[in-house]
Amino acid sequence: MLLNLPYHVLLALRNQYSSPESLRKWQEKRLKHMVEHAYTNTQFYHQKFREAGIRPEDIQELSDLQKIPVISKREVREQGAGSLVARGYNERNCEVHYTSGSSGTMLRILYDSENHQYETAVSYRYHLGQGVRPWHRYYLILHDERELQDSRKRKFLYQKLGVPGDLPDEQKITLAQQYNPHVIGGHLSSLISMGRIMEAQGISDVRPKILIVGGELSLPVHREYVERVFGGKTYDKYGAFEVKSIAWECQHRSMHIDADSVLVEFLKDGEPAAPGERGEVVVTNLWNMAMPFIRYRLGDIGVPSVKSCTCGRTLPVMEIIEGRLDDFIVLPSGTLIPPGAIVPLFLAVPQVDQFRVIQDRKDSVKVQIRPGREYTDIVEQELIQKLRETLGEPVHIDVERVESIEQTARGKSRAVMSNVNVDLSRL
Ligand SMILES: [Zn+2]
Repeated sequence: MLLNLPYHVLLALRNQYSSPESLRKWQEKRLKHMVEHAYTNTQFYHQKFREAGIRPEDIQELSDLQKIPVISKREVREQGAGSLVARGYNERNCEVHYTSGSSGTMLRILYDSENHQYETAVSYRYHLGQGVRPWHRYYLILHDERELQDSRKRKFLYQKLGVPGDLPDEQKITLAQQYNPHVIGGHLSSLISMGRIMEAQGISDVRPKILIVGGELSLPVHREYVERVFGGKTYDKYGAFEVKSIAWECQHRSMHIDADSVLVEFLKDGEPAAPGERGEVVVTNLWNMAMPFIRYRLGDIGVPSVKSCTCGRTLPVMEIIEGRLDDFIVLPSGTLIPPGAIVPLFLAVPQVDQFRVIQDRKDSVKVQIRPGREYTDIVEQELIQKLRETLGEPVHIDVERVESIEQTARGKSRAVMSNVNVDLSRL
């Protein structure tokens, strides 16, 4: 099945240096093909296009994409994910993946074999771009059973050790000491959690060169911490199971978008956000014929950029992912406070062991704290005062001391969770 992999790898490596003009032509060609295919072969898009009064031939250029209605995860769930699967594709001729959403319902995603190959090639591309080499040992913390199984069979570019995310930290550390990896990959929170134990026990023989982090909000303060404890350099990556890799950080510290496999839009209240402005991330996969995702809202907030990178790659660059929509605190005035403004306040207080900020109403937030040693009422009062200043509007703050704070789906750590709807015009 993977016979064409070398071809796809060469193609992906070449595409990262395409001129903007040839990249645009590539995208338009694939987009037209995808739209035609989705309209003809899926129940979901056929109905969607008819309701919107558009036909595939209305989509000729990238700017025509805006004629297609944006779709959401909820809509996909309501209609049934099966209605996105194109005629002729099924579990027997596709790779299958199950994603769990924050609501707990599963989404079954099918990837056809050509898409799977190109995605494999794209992952080679970003790993090479981050300094991973064929002789490297790659220690990868995974929270997904399917990915764990895959990590055991595939060894194309590097040797890989898949480590279950739910293994206790002490065992993860022992495995890392035995394996002596050049590269460690995982959620930033997994690495921080291992790092704390390594620091406390004076363990200094886990020294990877490269730390690939993803799946969570990536804050400089967290990255600096793991770089200090592990000694390597961190590289960010951004993706989603629905479309696989979306963007990744090169050695020159730019987040390059995999624009030859996924179109990424940043929308502010339905309109494209200007460079440097916040927008909701909406993606269109250009490869997966088995299950097209066209203008699909991921629920993340990112910032587009027009910068070019000194590494020479022409793949467009984005700024940062500031978190999920529901990671933002919504103030009574409608102003949004990103999680990146809240989290460092708590991290700066060593007496706080773990924390989470939860918002259910615009005028109040609840702070859960697992107190560490020397946590006192005075420490708490100072922390609340700082939080109050950061929010800058009258918001009631409740503190609850708890014994533990649970991780969310797939071992992700979320420090801020808001259940208040965001007014997208205020992004
Ligand atoms: Zn670059």
